[in-house]
Amino acid sequence: MTHVVVVGAGQAGASAVARLRAKGFDGDITLIGEESHPPYQRPPLSKAYLLGELDRDRLYLRPESFYDENNITLKLGAPVSAIDPAAKTVTVGDETLSYDDLVLTTGSHPRRLPASIGGDLDGVLVVRGLANVDAMAPRFVTGSKVLIVGGGYIGLEAAAVAAKRGLDVTLVEMADRILQRVAAPETSAFFRQLHKTNGVDLREGVGLDHLIGENGAVTGAVLSDGTSLDVDFVLVGVGIEPDMRLAEAAGLRIENGIATDAFGRTSDPHIWAAGDCASFPWKDQQLRLESVGNAIDQAECVADNILGAETPYQAKPWFWSDQYDVKLQIAGLSTGYDHVVVRTGDGSVSHWYFDGDTLIAIDAMNDPRAYMVGKRLIDAGKSPDPKVVGDPDTDLKALLKA
Ligand code: FAD
Repeated sequence: MTHVVVVGAGQAGASAVARLRAKGFDGDITLIGEESHPPYQRPPLSKAYLLGELDRDRLYLRPESFYDENNITLKLGAPVSAIDPAAKTVTVGDETLSYDDLVLTTGSHPRRLPASIGGDLDGVLVVRGLANVDAMAPRFVTGSKVLIVGGGYIGLEAAAVAAKRGLDVTLVEMADRILQRVAAPETSAFFRQLHKTNGVDLREGVGLDHLIGENGAVTGAVLSDGTSLDVDFVLVGVGIEPDMRLAEAAGLRIENGIATDAFGRTSDPHIWAAGDCASFPWKDQQLRLESVGNAIDQAECVADNILGAETPYQAKPWFWSDQYDVKLQIAGLSTGYDHVVVRTGDGSVSHWYFDGDTLIAIDAMNDPRAYMVGKRLIDAGKSPDPKVVGDPDTDLKALLKA
């Protein structure tokens, strides 16, 4: 019987195994995860779950019974320690499992602060998994002082939760502006204002110099401008690294993650990769995306290709972020834009990114209609006239018919 082994029981791993069964694969499937939970969604960890507004069961992507019912062997709390591509086996604890096809969906891990600046002190935390968030929850008490290092989406979402819970929040971003890596100045300005209005002490162009500890626990911080702060705990949101340890040790090609071809195959024809850990050919580079949409679509594409479809992966990037009462929805990739058109509506605003005449991305704040229209246009490779987009009287849906 053919055996597909999937290493990494997260968003991509769960999507791959479900797709294999949905497409009629009747061989053996084993999904192996090092965490002790069945596959769950991470986005609420820095949003509703951290806020205490979502039960843990609602995080699970599928009820645990799904795996049994679909004859999928789920091994949890089981880190895979090695792959032997020549023998086509993986090692889990004392066990050696043979595979016909192996899918790596090992995700990513958050960058940490170096120990030399206090990164190893108690109370210096990251938001990545359920275990991290459950451990930090008791610290979210009114009046507690939190320093958030990094003004990307996770740092900003954590700041919004902390501010809503009545903590005293300082956020430092070393770059000139928050969201600099991923968004236009217009979007940064929108979220800067939102956080300031909600009482966050947001400092841009200021990094962390070092943390101060007493008896092994963080008590203070010195910033790059020399300012000192008292802190009760620190949340670090300075980006992630793809988890490529197994792939590297197995000698697979690495380029901005585990390098795959257009079909999701790595440099070994029986090993595939998808999700945060995997890069794929895009324009003239190996692109890696860090989003739920990519994890699902890429994993499903890999599952189809294991079954012989030979379908190239066509990324249709989308993302979202919730902060206070604002829902941000993003479609496309803004890299390479040369101008942004701002469209304002009733309590909503959207930023449309153009490269010349080509629409490449949209950020929609509380504007699901602009998001939906922008996404459909981008996916279809259509570009509306920027002047028409910016005119608040334009009926957006009409753009789809043009
Ligand atoms: P993961 O979901 O991280 O799963 C990888 C799994 O592999 C992990 O459980 C890991 O423990 C396991 N693993 C690794 N190595 C091994 C091994 N050797 N053996 C066994 N198991 C192993 N995306 C959005 O689109 N929108 C959002 O709003 C959003 N918010 C986010 C908020 C937070 C706090 C975080 C952390 C992420 C957020 N993301 C968001 C990103 C999104 O969650 C990830 O892109 C997505 O989870 C990637 O899926 P994945 O399957 O590649 O990795």
